[in-house]
Amino acid sequence: MLIDTHCHLDFDRFDVDRDEVVARAAANGVTRLIIPAIDLDNCPTVLHLAEQYEGVFAAVGVHPNSSAEWQDEWVDALRQFAQHPKVVAIGEIGLDYYWKRSPQDVQHRAFSAQLALAHELGLPVIVHNRESDEDVVRLLRESPLNGLARPGVLHSFSTTWEIAQQVLDMGFYLGFTGPLTFKQADELRRVAGQVPLDRLLVETDAPFLAPQQKRGQRNEPAYVAYVAERLAAVRNLEVPILQQQTTENALRLFGKKLNL
Ligand SMILES: [Zn+2]
Repeated sequence: MLIDTHCHLDFDRFDVDRDEVVARAAANGVTRLIIPAIDLDNCPTVLHLAEQYEGVFAAVGVHPNSSAEWQDEWVDALRQFAQHPKVVAIGEIGLDYYWKRSPQDVQHRAFSAQLALAHELGLPVIVHNRESDEDVVRLLRESPLNGLARPGVLHSFSTTWEIAQQVLDMGFYLGFTGPLTFKQADELRRVAGQVPLDRLLVETDAPFLAPQQKRGQRNEPAYVAYVAERLAAVRNLEVPILQQQTTENALRLFGKKLNL
């Protein structure tokens, strides 16, 4: 069994064949999917999918690229959405200095407010970080999640071992996606090779970041198996052992709800 701990199954690129995508995932042993929301309007859509499919779970949050209009009252709406029985995390939240869709100080406010909400609700966070290493580490360190047993995951981890060590020290897990399988990704594989085994997660970020075998195509949850396969090779483990380990990690981080 595998869990795709991060996919955007709600995006319109899945409108034509969403049922088949979920069925193909299950046929490949990927029986649980977590869909993180990206903004308030998106939360009901994600929750609706979680109601529609037994193995689909949700996270609610406002992505840094959607935080330009952030208001602190949005936390109240997120708190309401988080009451849904299939919500397992607050996300996708974080910082993104690549797209620059919202000013940095606004991103900081949105991120910190949602980290505090996660702490209040006892939920882990799903963290997006693009070209914002230092500020992500600083805001996580200043947050009430720092040092908890299961604070959350740095999703689609793609930066240095130095940053990895700092967030691992705070208790965070690291999620790996398709880029781990890319030909040029030796540096990323070196990082993945050093992460404690009980802190590793696999994810797709579908429809984005298709693995090497499917490069250029739409990514989908079934392909998380390629990430697990590559991670097993990096760790010198049999594929089923790596699958079992990352699945146990996901169940530990996101909680018993995932155990239907
Ligand atoms: Zn994402």
